[in-house]
Amino acid sequence: MTSQTNPVDHELVAAAAHVARTRCRGDNHTVAAAARARDGRIVTAVNAYHFTGGPCAELVVIGTAAARGAYDLVTVVAVGDRERGVVPPCGRCRQVLLDYFPGLEVIVGDGEGVRSVPVAELLPATYVWAEHQLDAE
Ligand SMILES: [Zn+2]
Repeated sequence: MTSQTNPVDHELVAAAAHVARTRCRGDNHTVAAAARARDGRIVTAVNAYHFTGGPCAELVVIGTAAARGAYDLVTVVAVGDRERGVVPPCGRCRQVLLDYFPGLEVIVGDGEGVRSVPVAELLPATYVWAEHQLDAE
């Protein structure tokens, strides 16, 4: 599989790292996410851990962005607290991000190896919900 890599939005990584460093507290909030909206704005959020399946930071940032009127996200990144650096999205988040924003770029990797990849590359041979509805054309 060829891997498509695009320029990394370092400002976005820095925004997530800042929130991870300053807002994550205890066991409930351990990862921050930052998303770049189509209009250029940056929206940030933190996860809300709960053993029943509390949302990851990538999912919270989708809702936070919508609450600010930003419905089209172009890039997202998550950064762990305690200087853990960039954290890749879990499987659930990859599916949600792909369904919401098929053209989204996701920043993954760590240190010098951080890179920006299309979300579709993170879910090869993926299930596309809209293509499997009975009324789909
Ligand atoms: Zn997740």
